[in-house]
Amino acid sequence: MFSPRRTVLDQLLVEAARDAGADMHDAVTFRELLLDGDRVVGAQLQGCNGTTTECRAALVVGADGIWSAVARAASAATDIQYPSLTCGYYAYWSGVPTNGVEFYIRDGRDILVFPTHDGLTCIWAGRSRKDWETYRKNVEHSYHDVIAAAPCLAERLADAERVTPFRGTSKLPNFYRRSFGVGWALVGDAAYHRDPIAGMGIGDAFVGAQCLADALAEGLGRDAETLDTALLGYQEAFRDRTMPIFSYTVKAASLKEQASAMPIYARIAQSEQDTVQFMDVLAGNTPAKNVFNPENIARLLA
Ligand SMILES: Cc1cc2nc3c(=O)[nH]c(=O)nc-3n(C[C@H](O)[C@H](O)[C@H](O)COP(=O)(O)OP(=O)(O)OC[C@H]3O[C@@H](n4cnc5c(N)ncnc54)[C@H](O)[C@@H]3O)c2cc1C
Repeated sequence: MFSPRRTVLDQLLVEAARDAGADMHDAVTFRELLLDGDRVVGAQLQGCNGTTTECRAALVVGADGIWSAVARAASAATDIQYPSLTCGYYAYWSGVPTNGVEFYIRDGRDILVFPTHDGLTCIWAGRSRKDWETYRKNVEHSYHDVIAAAPCLAERLADAERVTPFRGTSKLPNFYRRSFGVGWALVGDAAYHRDPIAGMGIGDAFVGAQCLADALAEGLGRDAETLDTALLGYQEAFRDRTMPIFSYTVKAASLKEQASAMPIYARIAQSEQDTVQFMDVLAGNTPAKNVFNPENIARLLA
């Protein structure tokens, strides 16, 4: 289910899926689930010329993002929910000297700095959700006002050039949706959305896809009951893996400077090994408890 406007990552994923034997169709929109009694047995899809086709499947997976149409069609309930806590704008810049990813939380503000492709740096400047109306009235001014909270970054932006328009959002809810039912499943933002403050969305989408693939290796091609049990296992494994970071994200997105956490982050930043391990948590490669456990925190603070 891809739109023709692809990012570089989308393109890489499409190519990897095709290489692995997937049959990919561009510019196709999911419209409806096909049902046999209570069981989902396929999907109605619409091409860009308006024609619809019915596609039968043992399982329909909705990987269609935060506003998932598959979730709506399956009446997937939202199990755990917090409202949007932050809002903000990002833009790409050239000429920003960086050593890597930077992350600042100041009272009511957060800043994320990502070196990306072609020497460009993506910089997100966020504020508490309650400040959205003020922010959007004068985006440029508000954006730089947020950046000013990190003087060491503001100095480097003085000679840099913004090469894209500002893009922003205030719709950053934090939730888990029920991610499986009889003949359907959800992955990625469709199943689980959280504030981007931890930069986890893509990593979590891969974790979810892996958990689902593991479950399907056990459940697909057998009887319906085995498949349903495997899908329950998928949701449990995925939530076990992501819940600690979800809790961390909701806390961090309150944008209160966590005085007690600052010495921990400072020590992590001093050690390449600890930094790599922390970034592995943020990328979803390693469970959060590998860093945020009492022994490790005591070691970092020693
Ligand atoms: C401001 C911001 C900053 C972020 N920063 C980071 C970051 O630094 N690192 C990170 O890992 N994550 C980040 N994220 C989160 C990340 O973008 C998402 O978690 C990730 O893109 C989710 O991937 P997905 O495939 O589940 O959904 P999406 O990327 O939303 O993809 C869903 C796809 O489904 C398609 N679709 C939707 N409806 C239909 C339909 N009816 N039929 C067919 N196709 C359909 C869409 O066209 C789209 O291609 C950020 C998010 C925001 C908003």
